[in-house]
Amino acid sequence: FLERKVHTTVLDINLNAIIHNLNHFRGLLHPGTMLMAMVKAFSYGSGSYEIASVLQFHRVNYLAVAFADEGVALREAGITMPILVLNPEAGSFATMVEHKLEPEIFNLTSLTDFAREVEHLGMQDYPIHIKLDTGMHRLGFISEHLSGLITALKSSRSILVKSVFAHLAGADEAKHDAFTLEQITIFEKNTALLRQELGYDFIRHTLNSSGIERFPQAQFDMVRLGIGLYGISALPNNPLRVVSTLKSTIVQIKDISPDESVGYGRKGRVDRPSRIATIPIGYADGLNRLLSNGVGSFLIRGHRVPIIGNICMDLCMVDITDVKAEEGDEVIIFGETPSITEMAEKLNTIPYEVLTGISRRVKRVYF
Ligand code: PLP
Repeated sequence: FLERKVHTTVLDINLNAIIHNLNHFRGLLHPGTMLMAMVKAFSYGSGSYEIASVLQFHRVNYLAVAFADEGVALREAGITMPILVLNPEAGSFATMVEHKLEPEIFNLTSLTDFAREVEHLGMQDYPIHIKLDTGMHRLGFISEHLSGLITALKSSRSILVKSVFAHLAGADEAKHDAFTLEQITIFEKNTALLRQELGYDFIRHTLNSSGIERFPQAQFDMVRLGIGLYGISALPNNPLRVVSTLKSTIVQIKDISPDESVGYGRKGRVDRPSRIATIPIGYADGLNRLLSNGVGSFLIRGHRVPIIGNICMDLCMVDITDVKAEEGDEVIIFGETPSITEMAEKLNTIPYEVLTGISRRVKRVYF
């Protein structure tokens, strides 16, 4: 509450909307399917500990972060549930074990190095997660690597395969469905081989948010929910609720005439006497400068107002000539309207980038 009073530019995070979205995805799962929630990249820009503690309270089965230090931060903040680290750096293994963080293992080097570290610490059956590459061609073991993997796994008693997983490259687009089904078939075949060879069961998971929405037959034992939790879906008419609202306030209003200009490079021009409002948010906050001069627009008193001139580092200007606005008025940069998806489309990018690009100096306010 205090932060909302002090800071004019905030990212409001609606935790009830997170819970609503979680429950929506849970409703799509077969009985017994577990759920891993992605809290990497500062929970897609929404703040890691706050989101993680809600997810822990609501009995999500697993969390996933990208790097070990994200996991350490969660542990230090009191998160006790299992955490998978997707891209563990070679130098972070000891820290990971110390904080009970479970690595993704994607090649034989990381497998032997991690197993050695665990052995050195005198531990046994430390949970690891094997990443298969079924067509994403990012990290992971391809089919041809499996026999070497099996030999290495069988020879190490310090580690235990807790899960085997893969990532879909195009689950959100129907044009890739044949490829996605192929990825699923490869995953099924390779996990079956690993189960047979290792002689014990592990958790299998390959679906991300759009996979959960579009490929219910491939839930296996667990799914990995990311962007959907934060209210974004590639499906039209989805029931998800908006989680993040980026808002600010008008700090100054002034009138200009057509022979004047607005901002750097004198880029902002008007063809009639106009009212210009200055808003304390700029590209250093993650407001992409490509939205300058009419590309992007905000919402003030329910009306769209275009950005005028170049976006500055800490400020930007909007043309409010057609709106009865006053200094101190609230400005919605994105939220219900304009949506993050709309902003991403204008920037020719994806909502993930807009969300994770809101810089850390923008205060997150939870309600
Ligand atoms: N699984 C892995 C390995 C990922 O890298 C990601 C996100 O990038 C996800 C799951 C979640 O994907 P989404 O946010 O599309 O649900």
